[in-house]
Amino acid sequence: MRHEHSIRHPAGSPAKAAAAPDPDLLPPLPSAKHRGGQPRTWLRAADHVAGAAAGLLALAVPVDCVCCGAEDLALCVACERQVRLLTRHPFRAEQQAPALMNVDGGIILPVVAAGVYREELAQGLLSFKRHGQHQLGAVFAKGLGHGIAAAAAGLDDVCLVPVPSSAGAFIKRGFSPIHLLLSAWLHLQHQGRTRTGAQIVDVLRKSRRRAALQQLPGGQKGLGRGARAARVRGSMKVPGHKRRQVSGRRCIIVDDVLTTGATLAEAAHALHLSGAVVAGAVVLAATRPPDSAGSGAGAPGDGG
Ligand SMILES: [Zn+2]
Repeated sequence: MRHEHSIRHPAGSPAKAAAAPDPDLLPPLPSAKHRGGQPRTWLRAADHVAGAAAGLLALAVPVDCVCCGAEDLALCVACERQVRLLTRHPFRAEQQAPALMNVDGGIILPVVAAGVYREELAQGLLSFKRHGQHQLGAVFAKGLGHGIAAAAAGLDDVCLVPVPSSAGAFIKRGFSPIHLLLSAWLHLQHQGRTRTGAQIVDVLRKSRRRAALQQLPGGQKGLGRGARAARVRGSMKVPGHKRRQVSGRRCIIVDDVLTTGATLAEAAHALHLSGAVVAGAVVLAATRPPDSAGSGAGAPGDGG
């Protein structure tokens, strides 16, 4: 097995990922029987494509390590080991997320991060969010599971609520990375490797009213705390018919990457409005490492 870590691409721009085919360019499913003049059939076919996107894309993406370029595996043995090391020790991350802290230092929403968004974890996650490779999903799900276990420690009957993808992102990718990760996590649960008392409750939705604002040029990158928070305010909701699934129940929000925390704060706000008891959040990776002692793994409720 070849390992040229000196030629590793910088985080955020793995050349292999960039060279992979765009999901939008995948050919439609063959359906010769109804070709032409059957728009409903094509719509149904499109649904199937979305549902099975992960599997299809895993086949379409060249099988080279997304971190170091070694052949044969989407994540080579050495890089997979690095990802496991990078997600082995969950830590409390809200102190580095300005939208989750009051000006007086009080915690608005406690967050457990499985790891810091850097090196193989950052490169692998970036590729996973684009292509949904099964192997990466399984590795990241295990890391996310460490975070979930830390966040849900001592809590019975906890709902894990994934943050929804924007409609645009979902259409572009054909799948939601965090939902895919939670499915893989559930698979691990069923295998009995990482048991917790938590269950997935998918109730959060993007609010259409704010969709246009979300798609302003430039995305969220570079926006300050205030501008970013303003952009996501009112961007999520729990539809009325789904409220009873979380009303009065303890919830932990789940997302892939933590930056300012504005998205998690918005998700918490929407859950509060639906009567849920928000215990905290879990992310696979936080963009900023903990800067002080005493912020190691702990349940969100411990107030640390
Ligand atoms: Zn590698």
